[in-house]
Amino acid sequence: ERLVDAEVDSDEQAVEAALRPKQLGEFIGQPKVREQLDLVLRAARARGGTADHVLLSGAPGLGKTTLSMIIAAEMGAPIRITSGPAIQHAGDLAAILSSLQEGEVLFLDEIHRMSRPAEEMLYMAMEDFRVDVIVGKGPGATAIPLELPPFTLVGATTRAGLLPPPLRDRFGFTAHMEFYEPEELEQVVHRSAELLEVRTDPEGAVEIAGRSRGTPRIANRLLRRVRDYAQVKADGVITREVAAAALEVYEVDGRGLDRLDRAVLGSLLKLFGGGPVGLSTLAVAVGEERETVEEVAEPFLVREGLLARTPRGRVATPAAWAHLGLTPPQQSPR
Ligand code: ATP
Repeated sequence: ERLVDAEVDSDEQAVEAALRPKQLGEFIGQPKVREQLDLVLRAARARGGTADHVLLSGAPGLGKTTLSMIIAAEMGAPIRITSGPAIQHAGDLAAILSSLQEGEVLFLDEIHRMSRPAEEMLYMAMEDFRVDVIVGKGPGATAIPLELPPFTLVGATTRAGLLPPPLRDRFGFTAHMEFYEPEELEQVVHRSAELLEVRTDPEGAVEIAGRSRGTPRIANRLLRRVRDYAQVKADGVITREVAAAALEVYEVDGRGLDRLDRAVLGSLLKLFGGGPVGLSTLAVAVGEERETVEEVAEPFLVREGLLARTPRGRVATPAAWAHLGLTPPQQSPR
């Protein structure tokens, strides 16, 4: 279990729900998405109709589920939450669609992981609010058309590029969620601290935000761990010193790298002079699986500009040497 994992932990769902902004005005950051969505929802409300289908794309923990709930709340509509992997057969989807109320929001997380037949059923449902339910098998099979009430589909995906174009084109509005700026994460920390009733200095929030990897979910998780530390080791107030000391205990450094990230970077620098070195060799040196290094550690290191993937292997950037406080070897004169 990594403290800086952007995926939700099974036992933190309840506390996450308690920290969710309920209205668009409360949602921090993503100014463009908020402005555009505000227009979409206001116009739909003014028409007395149902909002267009919305596609939310972005990394885990950036607030896609939260936004889908806000869309429902702003439209005064109920919401049904499911996910692509939960829909194995077209029949599963037909059952959900046919039980929707008028105007209901259907949130489909990981929409790119839906089965093909379900996806095809969804095309028609999105466009014509109708599905064909196939009854029987073989030559005797018949398609029974079923009218659906108008609904708003909110699809979420980590990468909009993974969606087949016919599906992507059926969304009236696509929002790309970006990683959050440190100042925005400070606001997230202050807001959550207030809800959790823990006093936080501005500097304490800066310290937590800077280590949160651009992700509100991680900011909230680090805040909870720092709160524990503040209660046990200090007077309950989160200051810069308390936040830094707490996150040192949890091995999350000033830039949000954890033990695994630093092990990968440290091996690359100390054992391989900064590379280039092949992924498999690097993984053996760290004592981890290849996939762990490639899928768990590297994406953030690449995003931070600390590591580059090149055709000749992994290479550390000058920023990596600086971050670990090491001096790069002198280039031999040519
Ligand atoms: P996943 O793709 O893993 O389901 P997600 O993108 O749906 O993640 P959410 O579950 O919506 O992410 O958000 C994770 C946590 O971060 C929630 O507790 C939510 O309250 C908080 N959060 C996300 N975005 C914001 C925001 N803009 N302002 C305040 N809190 C936020």
